[in-house]
Order: sequence, then C-alpha cells, then structure tokens
Amino acid sequence: MTLNLDRGLAVIGLGRMGLPMARGLHAAGADPLCFDIDAEARGAAEADGLRVCTSVAGAFRGGGIVLLSLPNAEIVEATVSEGLSGLGDSPAPIIIDASTSIAEVSRRMAAALDALGGAFLDAPVSGGPAGAVKGTLTFMVGGPAATLEICRPVLEILGKKTLHAGEVGAGNIAKIANNMMVASHFLVARECLALAQSAGLEAGAALDVVNAATGGSTVTQVHFPTWVMTRSFDSGFTMGLMRKDVGLALSLAEEVGLDIPLSRLVADHWTGPEAPADAADFTEMGDPETVLHASRTKKARSA
Ligand code: NAD
Repeated sequence: MTLNLDRGLAVIGLGRMGLPMARGLHAAGADPLCFDIDAEARGAAEADGLRVCTSVAGAFRGGGIVLLSLPNAEIVEATVSEGLSGLGDSPAPIIIDASTSIAEVSRRMAAALDALGGAFLDAPVSGGPAGAVKGTLTFMVGGPAATLEICRPVLEILGKKTLHAGEVGAGNIAKIANNMMVASHFLVARECLALAQSAGLEAGAALDVVNAATGGSTVTQVHFPTWVMTRSFDSGFTMGLMRKDVGLALSLAEEVGLDIPLSRLVADHWTGPEAPADAADFTEMGDPETVLHASRTKKARSA
C-alpha cells in the first residue's frame, strides 16, 4: 500500500514499536521525520535511511501528523508540552499517540491541542514488534471521527485493524482492559498446563487440545506456541511494560470506584518478588515450569 499524504509526518520514540512503524511508513513512500531522546536509537533510524531530527520541537514543526510511541503517559505529556511550546509560527499538529497511556492524560492532551487548532487521538496498539514489522497492528482509537479519517491512511499502513473505540481516552481504556485480560490468561494458562503435566499429560499436548477446544485464547494460540513452549521468550514486550499496564488497570479501577479482586490478584503475581525483572520478556510469565517449581519447593519445605 502506498501512502499519499497532503501533510508532513513525524515519529517520536524509535523503540521496539516506533522504529518498525517509522520504517513501515518510509517503505510505503512517506518520509517521516524521526526523533528519539536516545542517540543510539536515532543512529539506528538514520542507518535505515530515515530522516532524523535532534529535538521534539523539530519533529513537531516538521510534521502535520506526529506519531508518538513512548514508554508511558508521563513521557507523552512532557513530550507534547515540549513540542507545543517549541512550535513558533508552525501550525499545531495532529498527534496520534500509539503509546499505552492514561485516558485522563489523553483528554488533557486533546484539550491542549484543540486550543491551538491541532488535534489528538489516543491510538494504543496490540500486536507487538512483530505486528509493527509486518504492518498488522490493531489500533484502538479514541478521539473525533473526523480526525481519525484524516489519520486513517497512516494507521492503515501500520495496522490490519483500526477500531474506533469512542471519544478521546477510549483507546487507552480499551487497551488497559485488553492487557489486564492478557495478563490474566498468561497466569491461568501456565497453571493449567502445569496441572496437565503433573497429572501425566505433557504440557505441549495439553496446549494443542486447548487450542482446538474452548479454553484457548490469543495467549494460548499465539504467545504460548511462539514464545513460551519454544522457550525463546523474545516477543519484544517487556515485563516492565506489562507491569505498567496492570498498574494502570488497578489505578483506573480505583479512579472509577470499581472493585476488581481477580485482577488485583493477577497484578500481585506480575509485580511479586518471584516475577522476572523489568527488562525480561513478559512471555517468561507463561512458563509452566514456574508453577511446577513453586509447588516442588513448597512440598520440600513442608516435608
Ligand atoms: P521501547 O522502550 O522499546 O521504546 C520507547 C522509545 O522511546 C525508546 O527508544 C526511548 O529511547 C524513547 N524515549 C523515551 N523517552 C523519550 C523522550 N522523552 N523523547 C523521545 N523519545 C523517548 O518501548 P516499546 O516496546 O517500543 O513500547 C512503546 C509503547 O508502545 C509503550 O507505551 C508500550 O506500552 C506500547 N506497546 C508496546 C508493545 C510491545 O510489544 N513492545 C506492544 C503494544 C504496546
């Protein structure tokens, strides 16, 4: 697919998700202006033939549409406010925020952009670095339908599905609900595969059955066969980012006054002392061996 845009394009945040997205836009014929705070990330983009600038303000001034792929809401907010204060005479951009962020922050950013004649969409993604490379991401978009239509050509290059979740902030609400479910599926899947194994059925054989029956989910159908059972643990989504997302789900529940006891229990496992470090791949949490090992240790202690 070729991208014909009547405005400039910039990408800020050239990490596991942002760099392949910038590459995808470039491959589709766009010439995005790219920025990352990290010189090494900028170097990698330059080595790929991407146009790089050395400040957020540069990316905001050069881009009619600015795509953000940043670690968290705080950094999104700081980046947007830095970009807007450095606009000078340039018009305010349309921002597509593909980071997993906070609905309230998205609403604040949208108000700031609106006031300057720009626009803001929260558009967190599902599909991971593999989806970013292949252009098969799912975008969950919050914001005005008219802004989404302007941005749709960009999103269609990068993703297979663009879902308009609702008003600004809705994309992040949907994403947080999605990732809390992913976090839950990981724990129940590893526990049930360990159960099968303990009862004499090899975990891989049990997984094959589940995936042809009613117990399966994307986690058991994609994540387990690709990254858990192969023990490659290299999906490109870190423990640190998943911990951020389960934390966001708990904060959102508190904000709206909803008790979510099961999700709290799941979050305890993801954040507990036994969980892998922030830099580890989040698929390590699916290892059935963790459950078997914990059970053996408990039995040995009580013997
Ligand atoms: P990453 O850590 O690989 O990349 C983030 C990039 O942002 C880094 O290159 C970092 O240097 C840059 N950065 C940090 N602060 C900056 C600043 N102030 N200005 C400019 N650049 C800055 O993270 P990622 O895995 O690419 O994830 C990006 C976002 O996408 C996160 O919000 C994450 O939750 C979300 N996400 C990630 C995945 C995944 O599988 N990796 C999947 C879905 C959603």
